[in-house]
Amino acid sequence: MLLLGEGGVSIVSECIFCRIVAKEIPSEIVYEDDTVLAFKDINPQAPVHLLLIPKRHIPTLLGLTEADGELLAHIYAVIRQLAREHGLDEKGFRTVVNTGDDGGQTVYHLHFHLLGGRSLQWPPG
Ligand code: AMP
Ligand code: ZN
Repeated sequence: MLLLGEGGVSIVSECIFCRIVAKEIPSEIVYEDDTVLAFKDINPQAPVHLLLIPKRHIPTLLGLTEADGELLAHIYAVIRQLAREHGLDEKGFRTVVNTGDDGGQTVYHLHFHLLGGRSLQWPPG
């Protein structure tokens, strides 16, 4: 079901991340503006594990279009800012977007994992 949230952002009431955007579910928010929200992952896989999401409900990376270029540039600008704020810019970090079942996506609201604070292995399992 589509509802209108603060500032006219569409909210899908069944979506846990839309409910975090709407502040119906608590989260540890580390950054917020009109279009983007970033919060701590509830099950961190590294000393720093943040999730960045567009406030607009986009289920997966496949839902992006060329018209989202500005949004994506902004998301990566926020990732750079948060990486610096969390001291990750010197030693590095990983940014991950899991897509679909084989990609390991469990929440179907587009999100960017920002992981850092330890040496991360490659390839993933
Ligand atoms: P993915 O598996 O790529 O879809 O990632 C979903 C991520 O969301 C996982 O790392 C979960 O730990 C995280 N997650 C699920 N529910 C919450 C929540 N309520 N607050 C913060 N992170 C969550
Ligand atoms: Zn959503």
